[in-house]
Amino acid sequence: MASHVFGRGPAPLPVAARGEGCYIFDDAGRAYLDGSGGAAVSCLGHSDPDVRAAMHAQLDRIAFAHTGFFTSEPAEELAALLCAHAPEGIGKVYLLSGGSEAVEAAIKLARQYFLETGQPDRHRLIARRQSYHGNTLGALAAGGNAWRREKYAPLLVETHHIAPCFEYHFRGDDESAFDYGQRVANELDAEIERLGPETVMAFIAEPVVGATAGAVPAVEGYFRRIREICDRHGVLLILDEVMCGMGRTGTLFACEQDGIAPDIVTIAKGLGAGYAPIGAMLCSDTIHAAIASGSGSFQHGHTYHGHPLAAAAGRAVLGAILDRGLLDQVQTRGQTLSAALDARFGQHPPVGDIRGRGLFRGLELVEDRTTKQSFDPARRLHAKIKAAAMDEGLICYPAGGTVDGRNGDHVLLAPPFIISEDEIGMLVDRLARAV
Ligand code: PMP
Repeated sequence: MASHVFGRGPAPLPVAARGEGCYIFDDAGRAYLDGSGGAAVSCLGHSDPDVRAAMHAQLDRIAFAHTGFFTSEPAEELAALLCAHAPEGIGKVYLLSGGSEAVEAAIKLARQYFLETGQPDRHRLIARRQSYHGNTLGALAAGGNAWRREKYAPLLVETHHIAPCFEYHFRGDDESAFDYGQRVANELDAEIERLGPETVMAFIAEPVVGATAGAVPAVEGYFRRIREICDRHGVLLILDEVMCGMGRTGTLFACEQDGIAPDIVTIAKGLGAGYAPIGAMLCSDTIHAAIASGSGSFQHGHTYHGHPLAAAAGRAVLGAILDRGLLDQVQTRGQTLSAALDARFGQHPPVGDIRGRGLFRGLELVEDRTTKQSFDPARRLHAKIKAAAMDEGLICYPAGGTVDGRNGDHVLLAPPFIISEDEIGMLVDRLARAV
């Protein structure tokens, strides 16, 4: 049957018919172990009884009420719970339908903040060369992958890109990892100076880089230095935790492990956990107060923002993560996964690096393990491994990208937080066969 869905994957795709725990079943009854939760989405696995019950109950009460007229119980409860566990200073939540919308909202809020505080020239954004922040025109401008942007130029936000902080770039030079982190953080300082601090509104970064790099955290001290540079220049720090947030790295917000708090933070994927399209932009009380005492309103409303049914899903997901001790479980199972990957791939010829935090792990594939020489990007090794893994009954996320002239072939793993020790073994076995 010809498909009329305008989609993304290579046709023909299997039909997802049912989900249970860590498995997706196709319409022929074949089971696929969900080793990446889609793309770090399905943190509770498939068919979670508590989320289903919460959504059914909300659906029986009311599915939708426009936020221009009403708030709703699940939206209020979700926002309160998020703020109770958010980084220091964060006190307000704007609910949206996904990650790109949350990033758009963050950029617009930063812009409006400076307009309302009498600094209208601060409109420039600084981001990092290897990054992904979404596919709408503002979020696309922020993202670092030039090939994603080139068909859609001119974009809507003036963005300047600096180097990312990837420890795996730092390979055996005389410099320590800490000094490397300080050096690349100082690129932000230099870029702000070059552009003129009075023109820069914000710096945006993922604490652990996901889709473009395969779970790469920054080195110790990097984000503290970034925070200090932003503060010194009056530039806002936006952290994009759409992929790495919601407990994926073992803390609710990934930035907790970097010892800093942002001015604005975005979350999405794991918030709806696949049960509902939902994202959120959280901001500091300071930013909110400036807007409240200024024009009084933030013009970003989408029809479905604050959707009660989606909020009920998010509220149930967050409740499950906190009440079932899943953050601890992510840390322990994350160690099991990390040890299993080291044991299986530590000496494997094409695996040049194994990294990540919690249940957010990545492998980097290289032509030569010693020199870390990349594969020819035309080979698209990550895409081939994705296909081979599907044949093995494993879903893993292919993360390809180019970093500062280096080509990257990465495999991203982000299994549900409920994955068992046995399933971790199965995941690594299947991945090894695919690689
Ligand atoms: N930011 C990051 C860090 C992401 O990984 C993504 C999605 N991969 C987005 C933003 C965009 O989110 P969405 O696909 O929900 O629009």
